[in-house]
Amino acid sequence: MTENKNNITRRRFLRESVWGTLLGGLGAILGFVTRRSRASDTVWQIDPETCVACGNCATYCVLEESAVKCVHAYAMCGYCTICFGFFGPEPANINTGAENQLCPTGAIIRTFVEDPYYEYTIDEKLCNGCGKCVKGCNTFGNGSLFLQVRHDRCLNCNECSIAAACPSGAYKRVPADKPYLLKGMDHA
Ligand code: SF4
Ligand code: SF4
Ligand code: SF4
Repeated sequence: MTENKNNITRRRFLRESVWGTLLGGLGAILGFVTRRSRASDTVWQIDPETCVACGNCATYCVLEESAVKCVHAYAMCGYCTICFGFFGPEPANINTGAENQLCPTGAIIRTFVEDPYYEYTIDEKLCNGCGKCVKGCNTFGNGSLFLQVRHDRCLNCNECSIAAACPSGAYKRVPADKPYLLKGMDHA
């Protein structure tokens, strides 16, 4: 078991490192674009503590494919065998059959790590930002899945149409050089 936990810890460390590097890269690109094309030095972002995963993020974006995607805070995840963000209510079987999955687009990849741990990864190309997995994880799990505006996609509209439709006031403007509000991390 000690060996298992060490492996999990190493995986988490690697994931967090990759995540931090990815966001840093996107932040740098965004900073460049923002400086070049807009007077504003703020961008839209979702406060994951306030979002109620209502579904509007999938349908109210001006883009045909929403700029909002699900992301995963691996440090908060329980690596559960039965993930309530992955499996629909009362699945017929605990396997990756499409009929057992909650995600309507099959965007969550379930990978066996070591008994009894499974890792859940979001394929952002498939994610439509519907938030179904977020609601499941928040209601019955650790809340490690959450929604974020992806700044490689977002147009940074003056009036974000999702923000106008958001029932919980979760959209806010944040500094362009700190464009993500990540769960389990210091946002200051
Ligand atoms: S359930 Fe919705 S928000 Fe979650 S990964 Fe699938 S498409 Fe994205
Ligand atoms: S600012 Fe515009 S592009 Fe970005 S999430 Fe809102 S509606 Fe979509
Ligand atoms: S519209 Fe607001 S409450 Fe609904 S999923 Fe988007 S951020 Fe969350």
